[in-house]
Amino acid sequence: RQAEFAQLRDVPAVTLDGQRITVLTNAGLAVDLENMVETGAEGIGLFRTEFQFMVSDELPRLDAQTALYKLVLDAAGDKPVTFRTLDIGGDKVLPYLESEREENPALGRRAIRLGLDRPSLLRMQLRALLTAGAGRELRVMFPMIATVDEFRAARELVDIECEWAKRRGRPLPALLRVGAMIECPSLLWHLDALLPLTDFVSIGTNDLFQYMYAADRTNPLVSDRYDPLSPPALRALQTIQKACADTGTPVSICGELAGRPLEAFALITLGFTRLSAPAGGVGPVKRMILSADLKAAKRGMANLLNLSTGSVRNELQSLARKLNI
Ligand code: PEP
Ligand code: MG
Repeated sequence: RQAEFAQLRDVPAVTLDGQRITVLTNAGLAVDLENMVETGAEGIGLFRTEFQFMVSDELPRLDAQTALYKLVLDAAGDKPVTFRTLDIGGDKVLPYLESEREENPALGRRAIRLGLDRPSLLRMQLRALLTAGAGRELRVMFPMIATVDEFRAARELVDIECEWAKRRGRPLPALLRVGAMIECPSLLWHLDALLPLTDFVSIGTNDLFQYMYAADRTNPLVSDRYDPLSPPALRALQTIQKACADTGTPVSICGELAGRPLEAFALITLGFTRLSAPAGGVGPVKRMILSADLKAAKRGMANLLNLSTGSVRNELQSLARKLNI
């Protein structure tokens, strides 16, 4: 199997009926960059910047943050990298950052909420990203956006940092793209307001489904109580895919499910063309794509979304088997 995936490394992921799919990988530490090269991923769809903070005993300084982001961009070369700003708070507590005890950390002051409440922290990170991205393409996205106002406020901090750099005559990125992660269900009913504000969006299905199903993803007693391959979950993704297609907003999926072949089969069948998978999933997902007849799959999928069951996994498996995937 490993040898088979290695052979696919430089093969573009195209379905049997000619749909090109971009397969990216998720990363968080410098070592993950080797995985990108080894798996043949076409870039990094999610760079989890909090990892640097979590392995450090103290707040990483501006120059340390800048150095890591530069290293990542240098290693990626022409391949795109999407940096996600700090996703800490909640259960990811940093010993060197003051934080208050929260009853429900997953619903607490995590991610962008912390960044907006402590703008100096977020601004330092944005400054590091802008410095590292000077003269090249820089893609930044914000985690756990729940309201359009949060996105506006976060984007404003990017503008402020750009102005700051400009006033000092510092070079800016040649191209700056700012996006939102869709992880809070609230956004599903405000895509018409959100999408025009963003340059791209990325769906974090780990959190989106945790909140949709009210099932703590870190609690084994409840985390398996629902199947992401269920009509509600798939319809939620379909809603986002359609809104993005209608507005021409680039969209990717970066939750763990993008790295599992059957789940990824469902995603491309729904019309998604950009997947960011954990490194181990890149080869298997690519192999699935190369054997998929998307048009036939789409016809089969339409019925599955209307089934009145909590999981369409078996039906999807039969469909995949029927299509020799
Ligand atoms: C997600 O929520 O799906 C996601 C990609 O972010 P994380 O797993 O880091 O919360
Ligand atoms: Mg998340």
